[in-house]
Amino acid sequence: MADEARPIYADNAATTALSEYALSKMLPYFREQYGNPSAIHVFGLEAKNALERARRTVAEAIGARVNEIYFTSGGTEADNWALFAACQARKKRGRHIVTTQIEHSAVYRAALELEKQGFEVTFLPPDRDGMITPEQVEAAVRPDTILVSVMLANNEVGTVLPIPEIAAAAKKHGALFHTDAVQAVGHVPVDVGALGVDMLSLSAHKFHGPKGAGALYASLRIAPPPMIFGGGQERGRRSGTGNVAGAVGMAAALEESVSRLEEDTAHLLKLRSRLIEGLTNYPGVTLTGHPEKRLPGIASFLVWGAAGEPLVRALSDLGVCVSSGSACSAGSGEPSRVLAAMRYELGGKAGEKAAPIRISLSRYNTLEEMDRIIALFPKAVETARQKTALLNLD
Ligand code: PLP
Repeated sequence: MADEARPIYADNAATTALSEYALSKMLPYFREQYGNPSAIHVFGLEAKNALERARRTVAEAIGARVNEIYFTSGGTEADNWALFAACQARKKRGRHIVTTQIEHSAVYRAALELEKQGFEVTFLPPDRDGMITPEQVEAAVRPDTILVSVMLANNEVGTVLPIPEIAAAAKKHGALFHTDAVQAVGHVPVDVGALGVDMLSLSAHKFHGPKGAGALYASLRIAPPPMIFGGGQERGRRSGTGNVAGAVGMAAALEESVSRLEEDTAHLLKLRSRLIEGLTNYPGVTLTGHPEKRLPGIASFLVWGAAGEPLVRALSDLGVCVSSGSACSAGSGEPSRVLAAMRYELGGKAGEKAAPIRISLSRYNTLEEMDRIIALFPKAVETARQKTALLNLD
């Protein structure tokens, strides 16, 4: 039975609950084994061993070699590092970058910054489903293209992109290929060899690991130049005292997610179908993102006649915690760049408004919760539509 008093957490693309298993593995590194992994006494060695074991686990989970994993503070740092490092290393070869209009800001804004620094960036437009094709990439790359960065799965609509084919197209002229796999790792099978990528970003808090821990995979063929200078940790490429508990928690959460991937996927697909069927039965609700090629846990919709923030608030007042697009843009009141790129009109004052809603699930959600969301939805939409109409009165 669903607990009526407890709010439903359905914003797992923003962040997930730390798993009990990951927490139990982390605790000793806060309590007894708090050494600095760079120290050469026993406390330091214990910490260093834990960090290296975590590196091996992360590497094995994505089919990488152990010295191809660099720990970072999360997905944003890994994305920024991949873009700036590739441009730094390759700027003598060319100054052209290809990416997409649907990237997370961690890639998108880094690309805009590189544009300011004199690089030329092509931002590929998605189709209506949020899809980017290998043909688009192939048409965009040129002899002076030094980097192509295309995300593996989109964080707002959940569309999963054909990265093996895109990576192959990207490499036609020898460009490096990076993928932001922050929403994908721990949720769909990810193997760097099968994907054919040179660099890949991941973040622990998206798969039931701790916040503030992530990694950049960089193939041995490339040595990413450092962006953070200091004590020379991470083989001289990313200085700063290692986040031992974070890395241990990330490794444990990833190991757990990979080991139960099939079971969790089956569960999520059941919940997602129930939700999509239930919500799209209501008038004025449409599914966004690719109908099949999407992450098992993300259902995203447009709700016509309402604005995003009033709808998220109305749902929250009824105990349903979801988000309007990505967590980062949701608070800003800005219309979603990603949905605009997918050619959805989210409405100005004169036009009808449409509220983007992202409902993102985890292994901890239940079918009962889906039924509760479906049952509460009309009331929230009605409230949001009234509030939106009032906002439009002036
Ligand atoms: N890339 C994608 C696709 C994301 O969804 C996120 C997080 O929202 C990030 C990057 C940033 O990751 P982090 O929160 O670990 O900095």
